[in-house]
Amino acid sequence: MLLFKELAEVVKGKIGNFYHNYPVVHLLFDSRKIVSSLSSVFFAIKSDRRDGHDFIKELYEKGIRQFVVLKTYTVSLERYSDANFVLVDDTIEAIQDLTAYYRSQFRIPIIAITGSNGKTIVKEWISQLLADKYKLVKSPRSYNSQLGVPISVWQLNEQHELGLFEAGISKRGEMEKLERIIRPDIGILTNVGTAHDEGFRSREEKILEKLKLFVHSKILIYNTDQEEVKNILEREFPNLNTFTWGTNPKNHVFVKEVKEISGGSRITVQNKNHDLSFTVPFSDQASIQNILQALTLLFYLEVPADEISNGIKKLQPLGMRMELKGGINSCHIIDDAYSNDIASLAIALQFLDQQKQKNKHTVILSDLPESGMSPEQLYSEVATLLKSRNIGRLIGIGKSLALHKDKFELPSEFYKTTEDFLSSLNTESFSQEIILIKGARSFRFERIVALLSEKVHGTVLEVNLDALGHNLNYYRSFLNHGTKIMVMVKAFAYGSGSSEVAGLLQFHKVDYLGVAYTDEGVQLRNQGISLPIMVMNPSRESFEKILQYNLEPEIYSFKTLQELLDLLPQDTKRLRIHIKLDTGMHRLGYEEKDIEQLIGILTSDSRIKVQTIFTHLAGADDSCFNEFSLSQLTLFNSMADRIETAIGYKVIRHALNSAGIVRFPEHQMDMVRLGIGLYGVEATSTGQHKLMPIGTLKTTISQIKEIKQGDTVGYSRKGIVEKNKKVATIAIGYADGFNRRFSNGVGKVLINGSLCPIIGNVCMDMCMVDVTGVAANEGDEVIIFGAHPTIIEHAKAIGTIPYEILTSISQRVKRIFFSE
Ligand SMILES: *Cc1c(COP(=O)(O)O)cnc(C)c1O
Repeated sequence: MLLFKELAEVVKGKIGNFYHNYPVVHLLFDSRKIVSSLSSVFFAIKSDRRDGHDFIKELYEKGIRQFVVLKTYTVSLERYSDANFVLVDDTIEAIQDLTAYYRSQFRIPIIAITGSNGKTIVKEWISQLLADKYKLVKSPRSYNSQLGVPISVWQLNEQHELGLFEAGISKRGEMEKLERIIRPDIGILTNVGTAHDEGFRSREEKILEKLKLFVHSKILIYNTDQEEVKNILEREFPNLNTFTWGTNPKNHVFVKEVKEISGGSRITVQNKNHDLSFTVPFSDQASIQNILQALTLLFYLEVPADEISNGIKKLQPLGMRMELKGGINSCHIIDDAYSNDIASLAIALQFLDQQKQKNKHTVILSDLPESGMSPEQLYSEVATLLKSRNIGRLIGIGKSLALHKDKFELPSEFYKTTEDFLSSLNTESFSQEIILIKGARSFRFERIVALLSEKVHGTVLEVNLDALGHNLNYYRSFLNHGTKIMVMVKAFAYGSGSSEVAGLLQFHKVDYLGVAYTDEGVQLRNQGISLPIMVMNPSRESFEKILQYNLEPEIYSFKTLQELLDLLPQDTKRLRIHIKLDTGMHRLGYEEKDIEQLIGILTSDSRIKVQTIFTHLAGADDSCFNEFSLSQLTLFNSMADRIETAIGYKVIRHALNSAGIVRFPEHQMDMVRLGIGLYGVEATSTGQHKLMPIGTLKTTISQIKEIKQGDTVGYSRKGIVEKNKKVATIAIGYADGFNRRFSNGVGKVLINGSLCPIIGNVCMDMCMVDVTGVAANEGDEVIIFGAHPTIIEHAKAIGTIPYEILTSISQRVKRIFFSE
């Protein structure tokens, strides 16, 4: 086991404080996600947005006693005299040095996967195919970044026989660092996308960069049908051995035929003159490439053909992600029913811990595979994890868990099999709680998920919580250290689901939330949101609730102000209010002529305190209004100056919405108000590619028909069929928020990779699409908008803005939240 002093040496650091030579077991990078123990080490990372050093005191108070900090950290270490400190030039480099050193102590084969698409699925499939042959360790989920890779590699221990890690990069210079940590013996390059990303000058540069992962590998596995990759490899890495697959017979694995059959595809490959044919339950190009990728590795490892085809039979195209959705009896369900190992359990528990909607947290857990740990060790660790995440109740399923039940101190019940649990299940015993359902595949916990989830009709809006975090960080990158951020979660968080979005924002430590109506604020409070909340449209009737729920009203007129004062009890002290100034939007707010009178009231009543003063820009989205926007900001500052001088204390000033943050970061003042940008739409259209789409609206095909030439489809016989057509009826209509203006070819939806136009008029609960010549079956998924077509294209088609599309999605469409 590695001890503190060895760590200090490996990271070439200077010891700033030494108390005890503690073991180094848990590496912590994020102050919000800690495992408190004497064997934990916190690495203080400084980024544009956060400085880990700011949290050292808090972490020390929580029991952390080992820190790696920057040499520039100036706080006197004397107050931490019973803790260890190492000072380094660069904390991220220190993590990388440490994990590279750790890796170098293992002699087992290490496989590394990179590429633009498919890394995670290829990794998961390989691990399923090899699970019976090797004790293997793999990256949890899609942990493949500059920090994800160190976390993955750190899991290695003496029992493992094979390591399987993925590596992902977004710009030049990153791969060398990951290569040094993973040092793979066997490389796998998955598909490299055609677009070149932000961080690369060209596609060629991107390929070259990715290939750097394999400079010390014994072998690289890849698809020679990617001409450009092949050429670059032969030119730049002539000494790298390869083991290839593709449609050319010269490949080690020659793909002879891929045939679409009902319910999937039949694939025939040839290796060493032997044919192997097998069927897979999918027919999309990406899944087929992924399976061939995994398969080629197995051929390279000389796994016998019959074992390969047996393994493939058992594979399923799996959802890889953790989903948060509505459950029965006002529960929330976190569905992570596809895998179970200690690393992914830790991540799921942390995700559960982030959810503040309900304070009762329950875990339904299956046995874990004992790869590389004794059951004693394994279940003790599971027990520690559950304890550190404040879990209230455990339902353990499986023989091993039952055997080790005395390790768990929390209220728990145990069942030998999933069937045992299901047969004694009383759904009434779950209510008002968040339930994490986490099981190894063989336990088939999807059956439990189905019983405990709210029923979802075919149409869902899937919200990517990772993308929300990404977009938030994009806007944060414009802000100075100390500028506050209010996030607008009005209108059900722009249609995305308020409490879940607000919960995530609370986790990301934004400073304020903004809602339109009091009821929205009350709902957030009832869901456990404790951030300050500004209500933009408080009515006289709702002031009681504002006080009761600790909300903060926007005051925009003498009438609202008087109504509030009339109602406030005499002993109220400094209720926080937000003064809205109208500088040109001409919606709500005090005008310049009102300031004198406003000052009169504000200075004569100590029951209220001006928390912030703000205004709203009318044309921040368009540069043609720059001059007007700037004149609004000037007027705002002069009005705010007058108020501030008169009341005699400093207030928080804010003016910028999402577009304003991008266009006028020099006017960010004390706070900004982020809205649409968080939800993936860059309103100035200059940085759209920097944001990630957060929502995918999906439905399914209910029925498919062949319609003859001359017939019509739908109401008012608008869908005229000029030649024989295949038509699919899909389960979304204008009552779901699919606008009727999408009728008659204006709207297009994505089915198995093809864009299909709407035929005829959109009905209330469904509509019809032309799927002539498209591979489409009843029950198939239909994407209304998402990565493609985008919500922006969608809005454009009917002459509206993304705001309207998002907020029109009806409440009957279930929201599902997921995290990769
Ligand atoms: C909705 C709203 C915002 C956010 O606007 P976006 O354009 O969505 O960024 C900011 N301020 C006020 C007053 C708002 O009503």
